[in-house]
Amino acid sequence: MTMPDTITIDGPAGAGKSTLGELLARRLGYLYFDTGVMYRALTWAALRREVDLDDAAALAELARELAIDIQPPTADDGRQYTVLVDGADVTWDLRRPEVDRHVSQAARHAPVREVMRGRQRAIGMRGRVVMVGRDIGTIVLPEARLKIYLDASLGARAERRVAELRGRGMAADVAAVTADVARRDALDQHVMGRAPDALVLNNDTLLPEQEVELIIAQLGRTAA
Ligand code: C5P
Repeated sequence: MTMPDTITIDGPAGAGKSTLGELLARRLGYLYFDTGVMYRALTWAALRREVDLDDAAALAELARELAIDIQPPTADDGRQYTVLVDGADVTWDLRRPEVDRHVSQAARHAPVREVMRGRQRAIGMRGRVVMVGRDIGTIVLPEARLKIYLDASLGARAERRVAELRGRGMAADVAAVTADVARRDALDQHVMGRAPDALVLNNDTLLPEQEVELIIAQLGRTAA
């Protein structure tokens, strides 16, 4: 059986894409690549450097010059990878609420997306990658052999986010987090897409291990 060598996973915030992506990549021996990290790194750097998040040209310039380096985990603290921005470990900084609040604003500009999508596509074209995001199956790698769209209810996605934040010792109010996730959904609406030929999975009714099994079965059916 020939395994398709590029798999995309798209879906809304908190649907469980990163858990599934990591599990699937490990199972297949592929690289796991989370594209949200790139937009988060840009947002974090823009906030630090006080770059206006409405200034598309300035943000695109920052996106071009920023050295975002994603490496295997360098600490055993629950991280899936280590992110270096200009050489500094910012892995957990990228998960802070202020980045959550602003990331969609930075990611909405076409010139910014052009820079990011070009880099993502170059990584995807090397093959043997599970790439996770919002527009990967629709725009970045539409020719991927298998595209997944992972969905889940707003309530379940907010609960997951609350558990994540509390797990890292941060205070998290369910109503406030639900409102934040809903707000990000609305802002991400224009970038998020479900490829017409995507395999749609619902995380409300499936465990990550079950999702992996369904995907492996689907890979078998789409083998060259
Ligand atoms: O997946 P994650 O929640 O880390 O993504 C953070 C934000 O980055 C999203 O809310 C979205 O605004 C942006 N993003 C994007 N396109 C992607 C991945 C993420 O616009 N492919």
